[in-house]
Amino acid sequence: MKTLLPLLILFFVLSGYAQTKQNYALVIHGGAGVMVREKMPEDVQKKYVKTLDKALRKGDSILAHGGKSLDAVEQVIRVLEDSPLFNAGRGAVLAHDGTAQLDASIMQGADLSAGAVCGVKEIKNPISAARAVMEHSEHVFLSGNGASDFARQQGLEMVRNSYFITEKQKNSLNELLKKEREQTINDKHGTVGCVALDTYGNITAGTSTGGMINKKFGRIGDSPVIGAGTYANNQTCGVSCTGHGEYYIRLGFARDVSALMEYRQLTVQQACRAEIDKLSQIGGTGGVIALDRQGNIAMEFNTPGMFRAYSKSSGEKFIGIFND
Ligand code: ASP
Repeated sequence: MKTLLPLLILFFVLSGYAQTKQNYALVIHGGAGVMVREKMPEDVQKKYVKTLDKALRKGDSILAHGGKSLDAVEQVIRVLEDSPLFNAGRGAVLAHDGTAQLDASIMQGADLSAGAVCGVKEIKNPISAARAVMEHSEHVFLSGNGASDFARQQGLEMVRNSYFITEKQKNSLNELLKKEREQTINDKHGTVGCVALDTYGNITAGTSTGGMINKKFGRIGDSPVIGAGTYANNQTCGVSCTGHGEYYIRLGFARDVSALMEYRQLTVQQACRAEIDKLSQIGGTGGVIALDRQGNIAMEFNTPGMFRAYSKSSGEKFIGIFND
């Protein structure tokens, strides 16, 4: 026992040390928009909360078991893409021609590696295609049929476009077309995103979307554009955006959040707030989630609501929809 005692002490000291080192954090969004408590029935609220919670648990358990932020982000986003509730994967909003045209991107803060796909119509989980582009091609950004050919080569699951199309989104497009309204900012947001910090100190950010309802002419938004809708740098933060993509592209939104931290030493929270203020100034609407290398979390938006959630290794957890 005497000889064991120093070993036991060493074990407890080291495990205590390891625990203080092993911080992880995870933040998710499911889109920003005109959600108001009074107008969303409670059962609908519950459905969203349940799915956000499922995604959060998935990512949390990966990180808690020493998994990589890259895996956590991909798996969280796959849960949200597979759910018909969000504007990503199944349940995506429809383009003017009635098809689902999907965009996704992913970026790692450790080495600034990134991958993205846009305008894809047959890849079941666009976020996994974005990851494959990053890991198994010499490119960053693939589009349309070329991206699908690549995904097929990579052995990713392919589906018919009808898989993505839900009755709800079909009706939304038809209503919009009937009113002959051009796309306006409305409650069709529901893009999904995730940023994770793993126990190795690496940050990954990812975003996946069907874009804006009634989009035309092969329109691509900010979500698959590295630096606009998604960005990650271990020295600063990871960022995923949701909102009216044209404005986010013009601001270089996600990269600008990182730059505000790098060049002006703002906190992640201040940087996100400052960027959302810039968005408001140029007439854009939407939201952003981000976290820094300490696991500090920011969730800012200028819309009435944003589906959002986070969890941390400390046990802290939050799920919210509205602005209250
Ligand atoms: N940012 C997406 C886009 O413009 C839409 C959204 O986040 O709701 O394509």
